Amino acid sequence: MAYWTTDETHDPARTSWVESAQGHRDFPVQNLPYGVFSQNAGNRRVGVAIGEMILDLSACAQDQLLSGWESMCLGNDVNELLALGGGDRRKLRHRISALLSDPGHRGQVEKHLVPASKCAMHLPARIGDYTDFYVGIHHAANVGKLFRPDNPLLPNYKYVPVGYHGRASSIRVSGVPVVRPRGQCKMPDAAEPIVAPTGRLDYEVELGVWIGPGNALGTNIPIGEAADHIAGFCLLNDWSARDFQTWEYQPLGPFLAKNFHSTISPWVVTSEALAPFRIAQPPRPEGDPQPLAYLADNDDQAHGALAITLEAALSTASMREAGMEAVRLSRAAASNMYWTVNQVLAHHASNGCNLSSGDLLGTGTISAPVKDGYGSLLELTNGGKEPIIMPSGESRTFLEDGDEVSLRAVAAAPGFVPIGFGECRAVVMPSP
Ligand code: MN
Repeated sequence: MAYWTTDETHDPARTSWVESAQGHRDFPVQNLPYGVFSQNAGNRRVGVAIGEMILDLSACAQDQLLSGWESMCLGNDVNELLALGGGDRRKLRHRISALLSDPGHRGQVEKHLVPASKCAMHLPARIGDYTDFYVGIHHAANVGKLFRPDNPLLPNYKYVPVGYHGRASSIRVSGVPVVRPRGQCKMPDAAEPIVAPTGRLDYEVELGVWIGPGNALGTNIPIGEAADHIAGFCLLNDWSARDFQTWEYQPLGPFLAKNFHSTISPWVVTSEALAPFRIAQPPRPEGDPQPLAYLADNDDQAHGALAITLEAALSTASMREAGMEAVRLSRAAASNMYWTVNQVLAHHASNGCNLSSGDLLGTGTISAPVKDGYGSLLELTNGGKEPIIMPSGESRTFLEDGDEVSLRAVAAAPGFVPIGFGECRAVVMPSP
C-alpha cells in the first residue's frame, strides 16, 4: 500500500472513548504516535499518546492485547517498532486504533492508560547516528547572504541535498535544559580568537526524520523505495552558536557550533499517521536543474512533501515570572524544502552508506520566504542587527540565559482531522 494511502484509521468520523482525545490539538485517535515514558522514576516503557493520556503498550502486551507484537512493545525503546516495514506498522496501527476507538475494548484497555501529566518522557529510540541536512532553501539563501553576501547559494545546492554528520550523543528530549556552550570565537576586527560562552546562541526549526528499516553497507536505497525506510517524524531544534560557526565552519562545515545539544520532541509521529497530509513537492523555479536520475521519481514529486506548519515561540524568564505567554516568532510550511525527505534519504544511502532503524535525520532549518516565517534568530534579526522587541519590553538579538524556545507543528488537510507533534522545548541555562 502506498505511503499516501488513507484508510479507516484516518476517518475523521472515528472517535476514541478516551474523552480528552476528541479535538485534541496534537493527539486525536487519528495520530497514535509512539514514545517512551516512565512513571515515578520507574522503568521506561513504550507507549502511544492519546489525548491527555498515554496507552502503556507493554502493559497491553502483557495483557494479551497485542499478540504478535509483544517483543517490540515490551522493550524500553521504539527501535524494533521503527524497524518494522510500513505494512507491519500499518497493521499495528489498525490494532491500536481499534483498541482505542471501539467501546467494546474499553473494559480491558482503560486500565492501561496513564495520565501524560504524571509521566516523564525520554528519547524514544537509541539513536545510532544523526545527520543534519540543509534543504530549507529560504534559510540557506538567507544565511548564505549573511555569511557570503556575493555568493549566497553555492553552485552545488540545486544538485546535492547538502548535509553533515552530527552527533547522536548530545540529542536530548524536550524539557532538558540546554547549557550555553563555551568555545572559540573571533570578533571580525580582532586579530585572534578568544574562548568564551557563546554570545550568539540561536535555535533552528527543523523536522526530524526517524529511519525505519535500514540498508546494508554497500547497498543503496532507490528513490522509489525511500519512503519504506522512513518510520516517522518529530520536531528538532538544532541549537547553534553562531559566533563559533562563523569562525570554524570552513572548510569542513558545522562542528562545535552545533554538537553541544539538540532537542527533539518525544513522540514519533508515524509515516502512516501522516498519509492524509502528503502533498506534491512544489515545482522547481523556472531555470533550475532537474534532479539527477537517482533523485527523480514521479510518485515522490506527486506525494513526497508534507502539509505541516511549524512554529517557534520564545519566552524570557521575566515573561514567565509575570505570567505572560510565549510570543510566536515564526510560522512556516514544511513545503519550503527544496528536496523531499525521500530524496534526502536516497541521497544519504546513494554511496552505500548504511542507515539503521533509530537513526535520525534533520531536514535543516525550515524558513518561509517572508520574515514571519524565518526559522532562526540569525535570520529574524538579520544577523543580530535588528533586535526583536518582546512583549515585556526586553529586546533580543540572540538567546539570553533563562529564555525558553518551544517548537510546535500541525499537519492539516481538508477533510481530515489535524494532528500535532507535541512539544519540543528547552530553557537556556548559563555557561558553567
Ligand atoms: Mn540545522
